[in-house]
Amino acid sequence: MRLTGSCYCKAVRFTVTAYAPAPYLRCYCSICRKTAGGGGFAINLGAKADTLEVEGVEHITMFHARIDGQESSGERRFCARCGSALWVFDPAWPDYVHPFASAIDTALPEPPEAVHMMLGSKAPWVRVDARPGEACHDTYPPQSLEDWHRAHNLLDTE
Ligand SMILES: [Zn+2]
Ligand SMILES: [Zn+2]
Repeated sequence: MRLTGSCYCKAVRFTVTAYAPAPYLRCYCSICRKTAGGGGFAINLGAKADTLEVEGVEHITMFHARIDGQESSGERRFCARCGSALWVFDPAWPDYVHPFASAIDTALPEPPEAVHMMLGSKAPWVRVDARPGEACHDTYPPQSLEDWHRAHNLLDTE
């Protein structure tokens, strides 16, 4: 699914092809919450890195999160003008890029369920709106973005 995205101020615009476009995976970790998740969580999508086309690349900056005292190799890209979180790219997995659902302007498919991850890092004020039967994980879920999409017949193999 071809997606169009942008930051709030529109200095950065991008398109990318997502193999995992359903915004089902809610991450409550402190990095996502601080940078992209005002309601307590953020949602990452799965897309193909070699399909990413960017306008306004000069406005993008990035940082590396520190996880367990170590600098993560993941590059968290955001707009230096307005602060919008854009995507995460990790050179350790160069085929993939993970746009934040909040940066996408294309209408995304409504996911049939949500999966809640990194609840061990949740802020105490965050109410987890998990429906009965929805998976809740203190850390990472066992299913990858790709596995979940395949299991729900939502994997986009275009
Ligand atoms: Zn911006
Ligand atoms: Zn996170």
